[in-house]
This record gives sequence, structure tokens and C-alpha cells, in this order.
Amino acid sequence: MSMQASGAKRRVYMDYAAACPVDERVLASMMPFFSEKFGNPSSLHQAGREPKKAIEEARARVAALINAKRKEEVILTSGGTESNNMGIKGVAMRMMGEGKHLVTSAIEHISVLNIMKSLEKSGFEVTYVKPTGDGFVDLEEFEKALRKDTVLATIMYANNEIGTLQPIDEIGRLLEEKDIFFHVDAVAAAGKVPIDVQRSKIDLLSVSSNDMCGPKGAGALFVRDGTRIEAVSQGGGQERGLRSGSENVPAIVGLGAAAELAKAEMEEEGARLRALRDKLIDGILRSIEESFLNGHRTKRLPNNANFRFRYVEGESMLLNLDMMGISVSSSSPCTSKSLLPSHVLLACEIPTEEAQSAVQFTLGRSNSEDEIDHVLEVFPGIVKKLRAMSPFSPKNIEEMRSTAGHRDEEHHHDSE
Ligand code: PMP
Repeated sequence: MSMQASGAKRRVYMDYAAACPVDERVLASMMPFFSEKFGNPSSLHQAGREPKKAIEEARARVAALINAKRKEEVILTSGGTESNNMGIKGVAMRMMGEGKHLVTSAIEHISVLNIMKSLEKSGFEVTYVKPTGDGFVDLEEFEKALRKDTVLATIMYANNEIGTLQPIDEIGRLLEEKDIFFHVDAVAAAGKVPIDVQRSKIDLLSVSSNDMCGPKGAGALFVRDGTRIEAVSQGGGQERGLRSGSENVPAIVGLGAAAELAKAEMEEEGARLRALRDKLIDGILRSIEESFLNGHRTKRLPNNANFRFRYVEGESMLLNLDMMGISVSSSSPCTSKSLLPSHVLLACEIPTEEAQSAVQFTLGRSNSEDEIDHVLEVFPGIVKKLRAMSPFSPKNIEEMRSTAGHRDEEHHHDSE
């Protein structure tokens, strides 16, 4: 909806988990690689040399962000979804002869859950560990799920909807003891919280450029030296044979620049976002009755705040906020087409009608305190208005009941 059509005077964008504007410094680093330094990095001649050097620099920047030992452990991909496919299917296929059991959680990103479904069709058995009410993988439950024939476990670093940060170090230690490969979907966490694949004993880790204010359609998979993995697609053998095809050089350069900026600014920007997030959380819980925070109060991504509100529906809050110029999500953009309540909230045992009332704010570089104040000014009125119209609000249910009671009485009289 255009600014005019919506009638909103200002636009406030708080949906960074869906898309980030590409940082202008990132964009500037990419520009020369479209038409000027356009060569194919595989070419042996002069035109290929600079792009080749640039992708190796980008690889090193991603390696530095996650503390990989060698940059060669980073495989450049087209984003989080491809990295997840490459890592999970790659290890599962390679390890098939040794075991056909996989472990994951019920709150993974839809890309991981659909990979699991596809592996189940190919004869793998998958255990989906249930989370706690605030969205943590329960370590005891997780340990119980591991078996002699488990070849791989995949757990996300942070949940992209409710922001919960998982006990990755503890899980990594457990899996190392049991000699089980550990894949981590770190798409939501990379660039926002420090990641150390060595300390956390991670064998494979997915990141996406889009979630770090880089261009969409670029990402990486960390594959620890010695991890047994099979290529899931075949071609000319680029990226150690794991990701064949001509490299998207500008996007890869953008990914590298985004990773470097995120690393350099993580501490300062993280503290700024955490303060904005906390102001938003406190303000909403204080000013809107029957509102609840989804996920944990502090062990969450610095930029994520996700709420549910009784007696009002998520989509209508989203559309009303949009009319007021505020962009947010009511569920993960990757699953919002289904219009089903979030599988993450349902797995946390939030009742279906409450899961349908979720609104998610994800903050980023453009957001200021002034914008948080604006949301806090506008949002309570929207919820109040929608609740006044909601057939499920206690007041309206009461009214409906008493009207129905009168009708029953009338009906009773009529039939007498
Ligand atoms: N995993 C998580 C946790 C995500 O949030 C997303 C999307 N933001 C993905 C994977 C998929 O990443 P991409 O869109 O780059 O394929």
C-alpha cells in the first residue's frame, strides 16, 4: 500500500526478519562487480582474477564472523535454505550406511522441517524434540532423543519468530561426546550475537546474507574440516564440488561486506537494539491488557519482540498497523502464506486462538527510540478498537449470551 493510499504520514519498518534494506556500504562494495569486474572467478585470465580474489575475501569475512579455523571451511551458497539443504541432506546421505536416525526440534525454520519430511520419505527416522513453554530445546529431552543410530542433529541458534537463543554450547558438547554430527541453522542469529563454531563444537552452520542487511540470495554453509558430506547437486565442481555453478560474485561480495560490518558493529548495535526492544516490550505489556510476550524475557535476540493478545487476531492488527504506516509481521514471512497459526507457538503449547493473535517486531539499523514511542502511541488504540469489535472479547461474549438468553425466553413463550 502506498503512503498516500494508506493515509499514513510516516513509515516505520519493524520487520527486519522478513527483509533488511541493503546497507549502503554493502551496496557500494557490490557495485563494481556487475559490469566492471564482471569476470568469472574460474577463468584463468585477467578478468577472472579480481572476482576470484573478492570471493576469497568474502569467504574469509564469513569465516571470521563465526570463528572458523580456516576460510576453506566456508562454502558460499544462495542463502539459508540452500545451506540447510546442503548441510543436512549432505551428511544424512553420506552417513546412511551407519545410521538412519536424525534429531531436530519442533520449532525449526520451515526449510529445516521440510528437509526432514523429505528425508523421512527416503527412509530416515526423525525425532522432533518438543520445546519448553518459552521456546527452549529442553536438554534432558534432547539427550533422551539421541540413539546409537543417530547420525546428525540439527538445532537452530536462535528462533526467527520468538527470538529464543538455544543452549548451543551444551548441545554441542553432548553431541561431540556421542560422536554425532551437529548442524546449526544460524540464519536468525548470525551478525546479531557472537557465534564461535569452535567453542560450540559445531560441524555445520548455515547463514544468510538477507538477515545481515546484505543482498538476498546469498549465504554460506560452514563445513568443519573432516565432516563427511555428500554433494546434493552436481555440476562443474565449484565450491569444493558442493555448490557447482558460476558464482554470484556481486552477492557474495555483499555477503562478505555485510558479515564484516555486522561483526564490527555487533556490540554497539546490539546494545542499542536491546534497549529499544526492552522499551517496546515493557511499553506494550504495560499499556495493553491481556498481552503476553512470546519467548524468554532476556535470552532472546537483541532485535526481536513477539507478543500475543487475547481476543484479537494477528492479521487484523498487522493490517491496522500497516494503515498507520507501521510494518510488522504476524508470523514468519516464510509460512505466512498458509494462514495457519505459527508452528513455533503451537509447539510451545500456546492455545490455537492465542497463537493466531501473534504480532512480531524485528528491529534493525533504521529504527530509533522515537519510532518505538510512535508504536507505543498507536498500537494500544488499535487493539482496543479491534477488541471492541471482536466476537470473542469477554464483554461481547457476555452480551451475546444475554441476547441469546432473551431469545430463548421469547421462543419458550411462543411455544407455550
Ligand atoms: N532459517 C531461518 C531461521 C530463517 O529465518 C530463514 C529465513 N529468514 C531461513 C532459514 C531461510 O533463509 P533464506 O531466505 O536465505 O533461504
